[in-house]
Amino acid sequence: MAEEIIIDREGLDQLIHVLREMGFQVAGPTVRDEAIVYESIRSINDLPEGWTDEQKGGYYRLKKRSDKALFGYVVGPHSWKKFLHPPERRLWQAKQDGNDFEIIPEELATPKFAFLGVRSCELHAIAIQDKVFLDDTYVNTDYKIRRENAFFIAVQCGQSAGTCFCVSMKTGPKAESGFDLAMTEILNDDGHYFVVEVGSEQGRKLMEKIPHRQAHSKEVEQANHIVNETGIQMERVLDTTDLKELLYKNLEHPQWDDIANRCLSCANCTMVCPTCFCSTVEDVTDITGEHAERWQKWDSCFTMDFSHLHGGEVRSSTKSKYRQWLTHKLASWQDQFGSSGCVGCGRCITWCPVAIDLTEEIPKICDSTTQNTSTPVKNEAPNEIP
Ligand code: SF4
Ligand code: SF4
Repeated sequence: MAEEIIIDREGLDQLIHVLREMGFQVAGPTVRDEAIVYESIRSINDLPEGWTDEQKGGYYRLKKRSDKALFGYVVGPHSWKKFLHPPERRLWQAKQDGNDFEIIPEELATPKFAFLGVRSCELHAIAIQDKVFLDDTYVNTDYKIRRENAFFIAVQCGQSAGTCFCVSMKTGPKAESGFDLAMTEILNDDGHYFVVEVGSEQGRKLMEKIPHRQAHSKEVEQANHIVNETGIQMERVLDTTDLKELLYKNLEHPQWDDIANRCLSCANCTMVCPTCFCSTVEDVTDITGEHAERWQKWDSCFTMDFSHLHGGEVRSSTKSKYRQWLTHKLASWQDQFGSSGCVGCGRCITWCPVAIDLTEEIPKICDSTTQNTSTPVKNEAPNEIP
């Protein structure tokens, strides 16, 4: 089989059906609550046909397209982490047994996901979470199983949103690796079809079951042209030169105070971010006290309890919370995991209710003409760490 092949809309529908027959739960984009979100899908009828998204700081709207594109949008508030690192997961239960407790371990779920419509920046985000959950001292077994079972169908970006900056972060727009199949959607006078690049043996075997034909060189050229144009049209940039050092040098820059005056500590930016991975554990009991459960839940460095140690919060001010988030994402993440924690997807800009935009704030924070002149925050725990 050639590396690039062509399938049409019916072929894509069949692809979804074959994956479902193979026992995969197929997750893909769909329209819900006026946004494009990732949910289980059963056929191409569930895809956001004819919809696109318009995004800028604090702004997201769906709009109708003039064509029937199935992947003619960019990214929405969801990321694939909700499947690989679920927002809530029960860890164990305890049952009273006379004067003792019996601990009931949670059986590990073994879902088999096929992700349809994964963007390049999202593949990079998954690779970053792999480092966190798989390559560090402790392996997250639940994540490992979900990750190993997963099948990835990337879709190359045919447009960028107003908040994207993947070119600056070297994470897109072209998906180069980390997928089983990568499709470019083409709509023109010749019809509506997909140029499919096969990225793995599993992908090759799957495509043998789907009606297809070999791609002509012109079709491959057109697919490459679409994704290249997406990169050229991306207007937002972030200069990452010496960024880690510049952020470390500017921990008391007055711009942090300026941001803190606007930031609501709502945690939206961390919830939508495809690389943020923090979680907490919560214990709950029933009213009789005979049954207890421990749950893992997504948490955020913006919540009140996140840095609570005996004696109080390590980071109680909004300034220190935002500074922690941004410096971790773009500086200390590199020390900890060997890469940036940001893939330039733009979600934190779109979904910030007050439109705080890290690509606008970072140049101000790293401006050497105004650095290190702010007054340290009062009422902060004495051992505050940035
Ligand atoms: S920090 Fe913002 S732009 Fe970067 S990966 Fe997270 S949500 Fe996307
Ligand atoms: S930066 Fe925006 S999204 Fe993040 S906590 Fe502050 S107000 Fe919320």
